[in-house]
Amino acid sequence: MLVADYADGRWQEASIVPYGNLSLSPATSAIHYGQSIFEGLKAYKFADGTVSTFRPDKNRERFNKSAARLEMPELPEELFVGGIKTLLDLDRDWVPQLEGSSLYIRPFMFATEAALGVHPSDSYKFIVITGPVGAYYNKPLRLKIETHFTRAASGGVGFSKNAGNYALSLHPTRLAQAEGFDQLMWTDANEHKYIEEAGTANLLFRVGDTIITPSSETILHGITRRSIIEIARHWGYQAEERKVSVQELIEGIENGSVTEAFAAGTAATLTPISEIGFDGKVYTLPDPAKREFSNKVLQYLNDLRYGRIHDEFGWNVIVG
Ligand SMILES: *Cc1c(COP(=O)(O)O)cnc(C)c1O
Repeated sequence: MLVADYADGRWQEASIVPYGNLSLSPATSAIHYGQSIFEGLKAYKFADGTVSTFRPDKNRERFNKSAARLEMPELPEELFVGGIKTLLDLDRDWVPQLEGSSLYIRPFMFATEAALGVHPSDSYKFIVITGPVGAYYNKPLRLKIETHFTRAASGGVGFSKNAGNYALSLHPTRLAQAEGFDQLMWTDANEHKYIEEAGTANLLFRVGDTIITPSSETILHGITRRSIIEIARHWGYQAEERKVSVQELIEGIENGSVTEAFAAGTAATLTPISEIGFDGKVYTLPDPAKREFSNKVLQYLNDLRYGRIHDEFGWNVIVG
């Protein structure tokens, strides 16, 4: 794992050490006051053994936005992207080659000042750990539209990948799972009328030749979502980032105009949504096997990440 400490107002020399436990004071401020952020990306191995990551500069950008909002220090490019590349170069044998598998990379930072008292910590740890992940089983999702609990409000921290956003989602998600759903579809905090995103993935819909994705300051702006929108536009589809009301979605499913719906994120890439629960009713979407855009874009992203097609957008960052 890669470890770097922030102290005396600057990042100290990073080191790569064997994966192992940390020793921390019980007063470590991240544990009490939650200054803790993370990222998630993957490394893929091409047929010729080349190791590549997907748009890590975008993860650094988002990490630094999360850091700024939580009054934590930003990471320079050579530490975030450079550190990940150095670690991957050493660990290249851990990157699996099997279709669908990859090396998951988890960069994170937390406050380490050993003092109780609500103030920004004077010291932080940045760590990168990795682990091989297998082919993701693409079982279509059953999502429940959440209209009671709130994930993020305007002016809050919904756009950041900070630990608290996931802690608060656990209880509402468990209640939905007890009703037989896989995940929640969060709605806006003010009126619970507009679709936001799923627990750890963004949402996209297809209506005619238009790909629509909810846009708000409170969602996590996913790199997978952004990439799919850019690919859709490149292919000549319309792509709209705008408010999507629950009513528009439900009516669109009922009248058949919503032909595709999927969740997009680094972990699952693209997972079709088969059913949506709202207000005690379950709405069924068209057969995932017949969804033209979703299947085409998933194939394209896989071909790109495993180096099987020309990287026309320049998104692959080769290691070493
Ligand atoms: C990480 C995450 C996503 C997906 O972002 P990617 O950059 O595509 O992996 C979407 N929503 C939430 C809440 C997330 O934590």
